[in-house]
Amino acid sequence: MGAASFFVLASPFLAFLKRYHYALLRADILLCLSVMAVVAGMIGLAARVSTRAAAIALALVMTLLIDAQFGVLRDGYALVAAFTGLWAGLTFFARYFTPALATGGAVMFVATAVLPASADGLRPPAERTSGATSLPLIVHIVLDAHIGLAGLQDVSGGDRLGDEIEVFFRRHRFQLFGSAYSEYFDTYRSLGHELNFSPGEHVAGLYSSDGNSHVWTLRRNAYFRDLIRDGYALTVYQSTFLDVCGDARARAACHTYDHTGIAALQSVPLSVADKASAILTIYAGRTRLYRELSFQYAKLQSRLAAFGIRMPIWQNRANTFSPLIALETMRRLKRDMATARRGDYVFAHLLLPHGPYVLDAGCNLLPPARWLTRIAAEAPRGAMNTADSRELRYERYAEQVRCVYRQLEGVLGAIPAEQRHDAIIIVQGDHGARITMTDPDPLPARTSALSPADFVDSYSTLFAVRAPKLAPGYDERMVSITCLLKALADADYENTLRLGSCSSEPEVFLSTASGKIEARQLPSFD
Ligand SMILES: [Zn+2]
Repeated sequence: MGAASFFVLASPFLAFLKRYHYALLRADILLCLSVMAVVAGMIGLAARVSTRAAAIALALVMTLLIDAQFGVLRDGYALVAAFTGLWAGLTFFARYFTPALATGGAVMFVATAVLPASADGLRPPAERTSGATSLPLIVHIVLDAHIGLAGLQDVSGGDRLGDEIEVFFRRHRFQLFGSAYSEYFDTYRSLGHELNFSPGEHVAGLYSSDGNSHVWTLRRNAYFRDLIRDGYALTVYQSTFLDVCGDARARAACHTYDHTGIAALQSVPLSVADKASAILTIYAGRTRLYRELSFQYAKLQSRLAAFGIRMPIWQNRANTFSPLIALETMRRLKRDMATARRGDYVFAHLLLPHGPYVLDAGCNLLPPARWLTRIAAEAPRGAMNTADSRELRYERYAEQVRCVYRQLEGVLGAIPAEQRHDAIIIVQGDHGARITMTDPDPLPARTSALSPADFVDSYSTLFAVRAPKLAPGYDERMVSITCLLKALADADYENTLRLGSCSSEPEVFLSTASGKIEARQLPSFD
């Protein structure tokens, strides 16, 4: 029974490692497998006690196999149903099934280790084309979840970080819009509307999703179409989270990276135990059982908190280190920048600073015990953070932002000298840091729970632009990034005169519990 459990537990784990091109013969992987062997040994011991225990143990490992390998158990009910069905079926037959499962499991384990991994399904980039040499180079970098300078004012330590950012953009002769905001809370909606130049209105049908894993495709991209019409050759760097190359009339050489990958962990200087712990957490985090258990625990925790009973915090670790993968893309962008030519438009959507907060200011990956998501497990029901947990997250967020600027310095420095004098450079966010006490989107039932700070955390975002005819400096007008990009593109990046044509009343579009989109006034950032 112990051997059967081990093979059944370890086979989907090996498949996971191979899917992400992680080497198997490593100390951290051997440590992970040892942990599984110990768990399997305990299941084997329990099964020896009675045939009833054997049936439960067998049903449990088979449920885990279905969960981890096939991902078909969509919710807690499916988990319970699968387990109960297997348990009932195995109650009388466990003793006959165990040898078959041990043999089948061993075959699966060896086959998974030996056979090649399935293809990753990523579309290879289209061939790079040449743009009109009369056009200046445009570099457009979207730093996901980069809060604006106005948004940093009320955050502990935010003043200092804001000063550093301001100095950076001043040194590079950018015009910085400190009170810029996004009209949406979500990336796909925010960028979808910005790249289609539709400030002040919600447009349906711009994007589609695969329904399940929150992977989005932008179906229409007016900005890219315009650039192609003008004679630009487009190159895009993006993650699998949002495909901005989904418009057939906006052809671009698109480099897409899988932000859920793990291979980058192999080369970082963490201990064997830390790496093993990181891999097991990420692996477990993708199973329905783990997500369901942590969800139910959080529910119970907030119910008991209402009676003054405090339960220990679930080690609600982040189960991804996607910022480290985005960092690799940023380094790639820097390398490729050396060959940037006139007539090139380079767009990079990077999940940086974003979350979870896993990097220090020097861009080193922190040990997994210190990884934090933007949402605190200890927050009361319906809330995302307590005052303390929000402050801690902003401190860690600030470290990650500092790492981003180290890299950004390199990317800007890599622009070839002959392009630099008239290059147009845009560096922007897509929404705020979203380290809220309560999320405004979807609109909570008790809207009185929302504070102006929640809106600032969610919608204040970065917008900085450098172009030969734009005067560098600081602009404190409260304008949406959609309005900014439209006004700039309409004026060939020569002025921002058309900003006045957008609504003077800042509004955001948020989704309600029933799935509708509603406009709400955005409180002033002052
Ligand atoms: Zn985003």
